[in-house]
Amino acid sequence: MTTTATRFDGRLLTPGDPGYDTARTVWNAMIDRRPRLIVQAAGVADVVAAVRLARDLDLEIGVRCGGHNAAGFAVPEDGLMIDLTRMGGVRVDPVRRRARVQGGALLGALDRASQAYGLATTAGNVSHTGVGGLTLGGGMGWLARQYGLACDNVVSYTLVTAEGEVVKAGRAENPDLFWGLRGGGGNFGVVTEFEFALHHAGTRTLVAEFDFRAEDAVPVIERWRDLNAVAPRQATFTAEVGGGPRGPIATLGFVWVGDPEQGARLLPAIRALGRPVASRVTTPSYLELQRRNDSTGGHAYRRYAKGHYLRSFPASAIEAFLLRGGADLSDSPYLPGVDLQAHGGAIDDVPQADAAFSHRGTMFEFGAGCRWSDAAEDAARMEAARAAGAALEPYASGVYVNMLAADELAEGRRGVRRAYTAGKLARLTAVKTAYDPENVFHLNQNIRPAR
Ligand code: FAD
Repeated sequence: MTTTATRFDGRLLTPGDPGYDTARTVWNAMIDRRPRLIVQAAGVADVVAAVRLARDLDLEIGVRCGGHNAAGFAVPEDGLMIDLTRMGGVRVDPVRRRARVQGGALLGALDRASQAYGLATTAGNVSHTGVGGLTLGGGMGWLARQYGLACDNVVSYTLVTAEGEVVKAGRAENPDLFWGLRGGGGNFGVVTEFEFALHHAGTRTLVAEFDFRAEDAVPVIERWRDLNAVAPRQATFTAEVGGGPRGPIATLGFVWVGDPEQGARLLPAIRALGRPVASRVTTPSYLELQRRNDSTGGHAYRRYAKGHYLRSFPASAIEAFLLRGGADLSDSPYLPGVDLQAHGGAIDDVPQADAAFSHRGTMFEFGAGCRWSDAAEDAARMEAARAAGAALEPYASGVYVNMLAADELAEGRRGVRRAYTAGKLARLTAVKTAYDPENVFHLNQNIRPAR
């Protein structure tokens, strides 16, 4: 088969074509790769044809949904990129409370379609992130403590395999594949449709943020941590540390999804944590909440981040969190922003064995991230984020597969071993061997098939 013999309902782009550069541009501006072919798939048949074409031409495959993977897995150098962005549709059945979401949809499309009926399901915190990559890795969001991770809410997947066949996976149909898809990333094929369960989450929220001077913050964060342990599921506790004009600030609070009046009952306890220097309490709609981080999480910056899951957060870890990898609180202009988001609640109701996702029982997810524009700063910025990550590593129980940095994945299988327990990695390997024995889908957090 030659390129010209393959017909697509969508578009086939080659270098120089209008739209080629836009299609290969992803969220992290450090990624600058040039695929030989880009298939902008219009439907399942195009995805099947693209997989077969790539295999016939022996081209590496990259799969693009929202393009947010920081390592840029979606864009294969000199390979074939399957660009799903034209497959961004969402159909909601409000009676059955189900959403059928095409494989290239962004979170904003899922949220908008669901909220039209007062419904929602767990989705991440930035609306221009892709449903595809986020859900396949697990999918954390403000509703997870009420309804589980995004992957816990997927009822079925439709997938194009490495052989170019269309298969479905659900609890009753291909259950091993279903298990693997719930946390195992893009290893098993191209998901053309996710079927999600939706919930009556309402449309209202409350966001509380209290700023404390970082130098006084260790006991404050200890009390915040203890309050988190008994917080209602509607509340997701948040913490971040960043530089400010008056010195480093620790911002502690929570995001509440549900009746804001109920959420406001938590405010006195947060206020009593210490002596805040500033505070903000807002009541955005759910859709506003979901777009709230869109500009700080925006495109066109160079990006690097390190992450960990933490099952406990002792005082020594709090001190390291506040230092952000520096020697003192305001050590360097390059110190990254660091943050925590609480897990628990419904995430932990799901039995450990139920899905490939391996880190139930997490107290907080930690992230250290930076963004910058000047390539000359690359090494210093990345080193600073790595130092912040290294400072928390002694307390880590693992890592979110979607937070793995490219260099961590390059270190043999260390990154993937941190993302999955040994038992789950063995089962993922068996599923990979069954569905993709030649490792056609390897531009991802790769599970290698057994030889
Ligand atoms: P892409 O780069 O398009 O895809 C990443 C990889 O996923 C692909 O290389 C492919 O292997 C696979 N993939 C994607 N779609 C498909 C598909 N349809 N079929 C098969 N494989 C597919 N994560 C959270 O859990 N919660 C958050 O709140 C959150 N917030 C974020 C905010 C920002 C600004 C960013 C950059 C990331 C955030 N993440 C969050 C991490 C996010 O889950 C990952 O970056 C994820 O890879 C993004 O998916 P994507 O579809 O946008 O990325």
